Amino acid sequence: MAHQSSATQELDDMTECSICFEVFTDPRGLPCIHTFCLKCLLDYGKDKQPGDRMVCPLCMKEFTIPDDGLSGLQKNFYIEKLLHARKLSAEQEAQHIPCEGQLNQHFSRRPIRYKNRTTNVCPFMWFLLILLIHLKTV
Ligand SMILES: [Zn+2]
Ligand SMILES: [Zn+2]
Repeated sequence: MAHQSSATQELDDMTECSICFEVFTDPRGLPCIHTFCLKCLLDYGKDKQPGDRMVCPLCMKEFTIPDDGLSGLQKNFYIEKLLHARKLSAEQEAQHIPCEGQLNQHFSRRPIRYKNRTTNVCPFMWFLLILLIHLKTV
């Protein structure tokens, strides 16, 4: 479980814009390889003209705005792929309760009642939880 959430976390970090702190929309890469949403770059450089020098908001490295403006910056296809992967993994997570796949093949899921709370976890995770509760109360 922890493994999966850290992988998701990593994916979140990589697909998050450092200006708006949201998932990239139309990711554009700067020559310094930092990537931002096109809308964020447009807002960040709204006083600039094509051909002007602008600095990367993250590393302060200068670059020249392309002749066709900031929208002429190259799309970051790598990030676009990551965004797609992130979307797929979010869809998968919505379908399955996050728990490692191998175990799921051996145990069937069933709702478990504990202290009037119904939890839908696989028995292995449930076992670990009970163990933790037990260790805490000892
Ligand atoms: Zn942004
Ligand atoms: Zn940069």
